[in-house]
Amino acid sequence: MPSASWYTEFWRLGILLAVMLLAGSLVGHTLLFAGITAMVYTGWHLWNLYRLDRWLLQDKKSEPPDAPGIWGDVFYRFYRLQQRNRKRKRKLTAMLKRFQESTTAMPDATVVLDADYRIEWFNRAAQHLLGLQHPDDIGQYIHNLLRHPQFVEYIKRQPQAHPEDSSEAPLSLTSPRDGQILLRLHLIPYANRQTLLIARDITHLQRLEQIRRDFVGNVSHELRTPLTVLTGFLETMADSDDTCSRQWQRPLALMAQQTARMQNIVNDLLLLSKLEADNSHSDGEPVEVARLLRHIHEEAKLLSGEQQHRFHLLLDDNLLLQGEEAELRSAFSNLVFNAVRYTPAHGEICLRWYADDAGAHFSVSDTGEGIAEHHIPRLTERFYRVDVGRSRSQGGTGLGLAIVKHVLNRHQGNLRIESKLSEGSTFTCDFPLTRKGERPL
Ligand code: ADP
Repeated sequence: MPSASWYTEFWRLGILLAVMLLAGSLVGHTLLFAGITAMVYTGWHLWNLYRLDRWLLQDKKSEPPDAPGIWGDVFYRFYRLQQRNRKRKRKLTAMLKRFQESTTAMPDATVVLDADYRIEWFNRAAQHLLGLQHPDDIGQYIHNLLRHPQFVEYIKRQPQAHPEDSSEAPLSLTSPRDGQILLRLHLIPYANRQTLLIARDITHLQRLEQIRRDFVGNVSHELRTPLTVLTGFLETMADSDDTCSRQWQRPLALMAQQTARMQNIVNDLLLLSKLEADNSHSDGEPVEVARLLRHIHEEAKLLSGEQQHRFHLLLDDNLLLQGEEAELRSAFSNLVFNAVRYTPAHGEICLRWYADDAGAHFSVSDTGEGIAEHHIPRLTERFYRVDVGRSRSQGGTGLGLAIVKHVLNRHQGNLRIESKLSEGSTFTCDFPLTRKGERPL
């Protein structure tokens, strides 16, 4: 709907034309008068267009020039539009300022990186924790400033194309500013191929974690000797043939059983704290996994005893794995012994050791009781058991799968658990291609 000023403008033009055409016809020069009218009218519009252009080029805050008719409306509308934009800009700037103030006040270092990992912006904590300098480091590649090889590797592993795939665990590094400060770094892809780098000071947390680890390690260590003494005496008493010992036969057997259980827990705790103390990836030596698994199979047959589980072994003898044999032995035997413990008599247990395009894999499948889906994500937590009573009666410590997880971490591996209640379970250890080896001919 055209505004009222447009109607006025049409009227104005109409009357002007009518008057000029009438005057032209009176003096006998209609066309000349029509031409003059068109020129004057166009000239007036051009003049106003020129004023508009000048005004737009000038300081935006100045009032619009006065103009009659339709041009008054045009000037006014431009003026309103500018005012509205200015208001919106002020609001956005205030919001941005508030956002920057809050990120600046954050104790975590925050760095905004572009698609090529060049620094676009960082907060004050980034100067203090990462040693970045404002404004010199703006536009620099972050890996040129944080030159730690682990960080460079971490950047290379980032999935650029699909930010939602970002499942890369945070990286722990010492601060380039102060070797005493331990940082946890996280790269978060967002928006249009941009990345947010967050670094948090975890020195205090790390110290507490260390105290906890030392405590568990020390307690386990201290318990070892008294338990060995107890076991020794219990065995001697059980073996002696006097009447007193005979009377105590059952309590002595129970005491021996519980002491053995405590010894197992202490041994598992010690192994776990040893694994935790060195969280780095272990290079190790080429391990003949098939041979190792045959040993474990012999032990598993002893554990199975009268239950007579049926074992199947599908092992690639030529496939080797780069790693620590002792650690792999405890991880694999935990999985195999669990299969024996949680599979009823005469059940089937299959051990597989094979390689494919993704890497090397060890899997244990059983036809046992299976595990309900909601338990699966928590199985590798320490002391997490589906049925505590059942686990204890089977001699379980609740630490087996936690050990497996740690050993696999040290070998860049991953544990997959698939299970269906009353059908059985499959525990698979996946190792990367880089760990795969072959027996020399
Ligand atoms: P535990 O010493 O109790 O066996 P683990 O950490 O080895 O401790 O295992 C944790 C729990 O996972 C077990 O208590 C058991 O409930 C469940 N689990 C492990 N392996 C199997 C399996 N093969 N079949 C069924 N349940 C299993």
